This record gives sequence, structure tokens and C-alpha cells, in this order.
Amino acid sequence: MAKLSNLKETKIKHIMMFGPPKSGKTRRAGELAKYKNLIWFDLENGFGTLFQLPQDLQERIEVIHIPDNRGTPMAIETMLKVIKGLKVTICEDHGKVTCPLCTPKEDKVKVTVELNALDNDTCVVVDSCTQLTNSAIANITKGKPDDYKLEYDDWAHLGKLMDTFFSYVQSAPFNVICISHESEVKMVDKSAKLVPVGGTSNFSRNVAKYFDEVIYCRVVNGKHVMASSTATDNNILTGSRANVDLAKDPNANLIVLWGSAEAK
Ligand SMILES: [Zn+2]
Repeated sequence: MAKLSNLKETKIKHIMMFGPPKSGKTRRAGELAKYKNLIWFDLENGFGTLFQLPQDLQERIEVIHIPDNRGTPMAIETMLKVIKGLKVTICEDHGKVTCPLCTPKEDKVKVTVELNALDNDTCVVVDSCTQLTNSAIANITKGKPDDYKLEYDDWAHLGKLMDTFFSYVQSAPFNVICISHESEVKMVDKSAKLVPVGGTSNFSRNVAKYFDEVIYCRVVNGKHVMASSTATDNNILTGSRANVDLAKDPNANLIVLWGSAEAK
């Protein structure tokens, strides 16, 4: 085993950002483009907010839109392939990896990504894990009537799909930001806590373990505020391995999580 002092501190970050709608999640993640190139997987048609960013930042964001709906739940299928990091080609029309319809047609727009080949100058954004969860549910209940209720085996299947995705995030050799909405779950001690949506309640309760940083976004006195310190609020799941308290500076850029040296 190498001595700790001989090991380089890993600079790759896996970040979960969550909070209610309109709490600034998309914009704050987009502002990271000031320091890093972003590959933005848009699963819920939410990238409109990114047009509010300055033009030079927009230039550094590559949006890959994955059309996803209940009838054609593409997000879970494509993201499970993409997140493994190997080279994949995604069609623009369907957001599908190696699409049988588009692959033979030269006039169809496709994008090739290989996340394992990314360096620390780039960060992958998954917007959002809420939609990814919905997509997984739609995939599991394909062909079932509209009023079908998930059964025990379906929930187990959902937990497995989400665990597979987040496990790849956890060990990814590239930077990842997952954006999610909030849900209130009962913790083991029966207290209620706001946690990121990541599948079942049981799963959402534990989703933080896959991430280095868990950031909560909210609006306080009309301002977007990010919180990362574990001391933020007992009822909200947050945490920072980098020991950064984002709440201290309302204009903080996420780059501070990579180490203050990079933040100019
Ligand atoms: Zn296609």
C-alpha cells in the first residue's frame, strides 16, 4: 500500500445539487462553465435557463437533449449506457445510443461521447435525477395500464436501476453534477428530512453516500442561496467532504468545491 503522503488528493468531484423548483440549481451549475467545460445531459427540457448565462459561458456548454416521456422512457436507457464512460453515439432525434433508425442515415445528427476520456477541465451535468427516476419507473411499468400501482418487485427493480446509475457516478473518473428535486422522507429516527429525489424513499434517504458533496439550493429573502455545510439545517440533507460552506458567499461559484486555488 502507498503511504497517504505519497498519494495525490483526487480532484475529481461527484456533486448532488437539489432543491425546490426555481431555486437556482440550473443556473448555479451552468455558472461553473466559467471554469470548466460542461457536457449537459438535459432529460427534462430544462436547459432554457442556460440562455441567461453570458455568451462566453454558453460556448463552453454542450447540451445533449434526451427526449423522455412515459411512452418512450429513453433517459434511463441512455444514461445507464453513457455513465459507464465508454464511447457511445447518441442520435439527436431520439436521444438513443446506437439508434437503429438513425445510425444508417448520414443526414441524422449524432453526438459521440466518451466520459472516461474526459479530463478535470470538464464536468458532466445530469439534469435531472428526478426525470431519470420517472424514466426508470416508466420503463419498469411499460405496457401496464395507466392506473397501475408499483408492486414490491417493481420497487426493488427501481432501486436496482438507480443504484446501478449512482454507483457508476460514485466511482466515475470524471466530474459529475447530478441535479435533483427535493422530497421529504422519514429518517430512521422518524424525523422528517428533505433529501434529493433518487428513486424510492428508502433509496433517497441514502443517496448522499454516492456523492462527495451534497448541496441544497433554496430561495431566502428573494435570493438564491446554496448550502453545503452539514450544520445548515437538521431537516435538510447536506454535506461537504471538501469542508466548504457555500452559504457564506451568496455569489459563490461551485468551483470552490474543487479547491480555492482554482477559483479566481
Ligand atoms: Zn434515433
